[in-house]
Amino acid sequence: MAENDKSSVVGVDLGGTKILAGVFDEKLNCLAKTKLSTKAVRGVEAVIERIARCVRDAVDEADLNLKQVRAVGIGAPGASDPQSGTVLFAPNLPGWTDVPLKKLLEKELSVPVFIENDCNIQALGVHEKELKGRPRHMVGIFLGTGIGAGLILEGKLYSGFNRTAGEIGHMVLEVGGPKCGCGNKGCFEALASRTAMFKRIQAAVKEGQKTLLTEMLGPGLEDMRSGDLRKAIRRGDKFVEKVVEEAAEYTGIAIANVINLLNPEVVVVGGGVMDALEDEMLAIIVETAHDYAMEGTAKDIEIIASKLGDDAGITGGAVLARRNSK
Ligand SMILES: [Zn+2]
Repeated sequence: MAENDKSSVVGVDLGGTKILAGVFDEKLNCLAKTKLSTKAVRGVEAVIERIARCVRDAVDEADLNLKQVRAVGIGAPGASDPQSGTVLFAPNLPGWTDVPLKKLLEKELSVPVFIENDCNIQALGVHEKELKGRPRHMVGIFLGTGIGAGLILEGKLYSGFNRTAGEIGHMVLEVGGPKCGCGNKGCFEALASRTAMFKRIQAAVKEGQKTLLTEMLGPGLEDMRSGDLRKAIRRGDKFVEKVVEEAAEYTGIAIANVINLLNPEVVVVGGGVMDALEDEMLAIIVETAHDYAMEGTAKDIEIIASKLGDDAGITGGAVLARRNSK
């Protein structure tokens, strides 16, 4: 690649525990990616330095240099103001209030930087790469440690008045239900996230529930991952199967609410939980969504699983970088 060719962009996914960076060519093919732990406890400056390092490593891995990178697009957790390039607040990143992420990173990298909310970015990645930019109205729902959504309406990202649209994880699905990290009770996230499923399993095991998971991971169920639930189900663990089925049902109900409210063409379900448990969850999600959606509203709406997995964030970051630096 010529020294002055600036066709590459970098997408970054900044999470509470890890930073991912990917270098993409103009066709949105990933040339190289790198991963670094966030070490959020070390404070804002240290995290900025780690993001810059992760970007530099990815660029080097792709046999490029920063001068050949047109722009960097970052998905940050919490609420962001893309216009000013500021992270307004991020509950998973201690100390991150009004952090001028764009300005600080541009100083480190000397490359234009653009930021967006992480779920918006993931939705953008799925929309552009997997669905070729086709649906005018799409909702991306991401099931992981928490649950979030990104909305593309009329072909554009929708962020809302306070830039916090898409907080689907805190839609209340069960009055008086389990306590949520946000302080409320019965939120979708408190019922169907990976954290919620693990809590339920751990509590039941303490009460004497038998499960193959204790055989696989030990009585404390340390380091449980979504993939462990899949393995247990495939080995015939009916208890784990029921926990996952219920999470899928709640997801279907949340999607029915979204369909009634927004009537999107496509609902895409992604995130780490979906990656690991698509075969166990997707059919139940689709069936429940159709059962609960008002008659006629879900007709011809596609409810599909994203295949991008962890790459949705970096891909969306690349889309953001590309769009803003044309
Ligand atoms: Zn909540």
